[in-house]
This record gives sequence, structure tokens and C-alpha cells, in this order.
Amino acid sequence: MQAGSTQDAAAGAGPGAATVEERRFPCPACGSDLRFDPASQGMICGHCGHAEPVPRVRAALEELDLRAVAGTGLPAGVMEEVRVARCGSCGAEIEFDAGLHARECPFCASPLVADTGVSRHIKPQAQLPFLLGEAEARTAMNTWLGRLWFAPSDLSKYAKADRALTGVYAPYWTYDAQTETTYTGQRGTVHYETRHVPVTVNGKRQMQAQQVAKVDWRPARGRVSRKFDDVLVLGSRSLPKTYTDALAPWDLSVLAPYDPRYLAGFRAEGYTVGVEDGYAEAKAAMNAVIENDVRADIGGDQQRIAALDTEVGRLTFKHVLLPVWLAAFRYRGKAYRFVVNGRTGSVDGERPYSTIKIAVAVILGLALAGAIAALLIAQNS
Ligand SMILES: [Zn+2]
Ligand SMILES: [Zn+2]
Repeated sequence: MQAGSTQDAAAGAGPGAATVEERRFPCPACGSDLRFDPASQGMICGHCGHAEPVPRVRAALEELDLRAVAGTGLPAGVMEEVRVARCGSCGAEIEFDAGLHARECPFCASPLVADTGVSRHIKPQAQLPFLLGEAEARTAMNTWLGRLWFAPSDLSKYAKADRALTGVYAPYWTYDAQTETTYTGQRGTVHYETRHVPVTVNGKRQMQAQQVAKVDWRPARGRVSRKFDDVLVLGSRSLPKTYTDALAPWDLSVLAPYDPRYLAGFRAEGYTVGVEDGYAEAKAAMNAVIENDVRADIGGDQQRIAALDTEVGRLTFKHVLLPVWLAAFRYRGKAYRFVVNGRTGSVDGERPYSTIKIAVAVILGLALAGAIAALLIAQNS
């Protein structure tokens, strides 16, 4: 604890301290800011058109020891300080970028207070760069909205208007673990027994054979092991988990070592769910897999698990950034949000319902049912 507070005191050197990351890439030709361009996968100057490539790096990604977080601490080079703006409404921490002026929170469309602070956190180890530009993301969103028949028409129109989408790198944790589990339980084998039961057929009593299922339970014990790779957990709560879950799967096999050039021109959300809290969620996902492994190992027709004892060996994590296009706006006093996977174009978001459209559908349905009933009555009479 003591070491932690000393570090915090050092971080408190204040905004403008030399350690605070500045993510600006001035154009060598005209001096304006270069931004990452998804179409060319390189840097581009919006002012003079100067373009330069971002070389693809294929290198082993750094994995960090999760147990070191609570114990000896992470190596100093793993931490960084960034300026952030905190949304008072949804709690999102948005990295402050001198080149981008946001007046609204990209997650909930609430006005952002200009007040910024310094956040000290674990540096990302990797990111997936944006593949979809804003126009392609909007097309994906409009197609999705078009399929929502119950959405109020003017809301769809409002959402489809050339409203700016915000490209945000969302903070995620990925966990790798090697587990060994010993278990005890029971294996159930189903067999059928023939039983003779008295029945009455045409007024006569007679015996009839019936098949009855029986389960034989035998004790079972054993050991299963599993190597988990990249169990993914969202490191923030600014978007409902169901939305971000719907964006999966992510092509994590092509994660590239962290390079701030990919972030140029985009927003980055700082994590607000710590790496240890994220692990609690990852662990629940791992336990479900382990339980399936145990059931498969027990075999038979049915399984009962009495006790599980899991030892986690090597346990590492990475902090990764994944690209999401966001549309957030307020419509008739309610916040609507849509998210688009910046790699695949998968979409999810608020499913707005028009009460008038639903009422019309219900009335039409009742009318149709009534007509069918009338027809059947007419046929039978
Ligand atoms: Zn330029
Ligand atoms: Zn917000």
C-alpha cells in the first residue's frame, strides 16, 4: 500500500509533467496533425494530403504477470500517464487529445466538461487498427436500422442523417492461463428396464410390458487441464455489456504491438475496470469451460459434479485496444447508442420501439385472427 501512495504522489506532479504521453504526429510537410487512415492503413494529413505508411510489425506481444499487480508490482515501463476528460454522466474516461475537440461524451451524448485530469494506468500492449472508415461504419449502421421494423420512422431518419460517428478505441483485458483441475463426481448410465403393468383393454384386464428409464450412478474422479488463450473482458462500463458482447468475435490473432500512430485522429477510452476486477469476470468464463471439460471427462449419459479444485499456473494478461465506431444522440429526452465493430461492421445498439407501429400490428393481427375464426365457423356450419 505504501509503495502505491508514493507512486501516486509522483504522478501528482501535475498536468504538463514530462511523463504525460502526447500523441501528436505533426505533418512533415505542413505541420498540421497526421491521422490514421483506415482505407490505406497509413498516416494521412487532412490539410495537405501528405501520406506515410505505418509499417506492420509482426512481433511477439508482451504478456504481463497478473500476480505481480498485487505483489511486487509491474515494471515501471509498463505504466503511462495520460490526460483524460471524465464524463460526469456515464463515468467514461476519455483520453484528452489536443487535436480533437469533443463537446459531447461519445458514449452518452452528455455535454463534456472541459476539466481534465491526469490518469496513471497500464500502457496498452497491443491494438487492432480500424479497418472500416466512418462512411462504411455508417452504411453498416443504416442497414441494421433498416431491419428494425418497429423503430419509429422519424428516429431512423434522425439516426441516418449525416450525423458524425466517433471512432473510439475501447479498453479490453485479455487473460491467458494454464489450469489443472481435479474433480470428484458421479457418472450416470441410463438403462431401460421392462416392467409389466396391469391395463384394461376392451374391458379386459391384462398385463402389458413397459420400458422404464433408470440411471445407474457410479463414483467418478479425475483431472483435466486446459490452456486458455486471450479470454477477453471489457475494461469499462460506459456501454452496456450486451452491446459490446454483440461485437464479438474479434480477430485477436492479428493483434499488433501497441503503436500510438494507430490512435491518431481517434479517441481512446481509458480503462475504468481494473485488471484484477476484469480477471474475476474472465475466471467465471474459464470456470464454465472447465466444468464442460469435467463433464466430458466423466462421460456417461449424465454427470454430477461434487467438487472441483482448480490450480491456476501461469497467469498473464495484456491490455489491448479494440476499434469501435459509436453513434450516441439524444432523441425526445432519451439517449440512443449504436456501436459498430471497426473491423467487421457488426452492429448493435438500442432497439427503439414505436408504440403506434406495435399497436397497429396488434390490431391487424387481431383482425386477421377474427377473420380466420369467422371463416372456420362458416365452414363448420
Ligand atoms: Zn500536411
Ligand atoms: Zn458519458
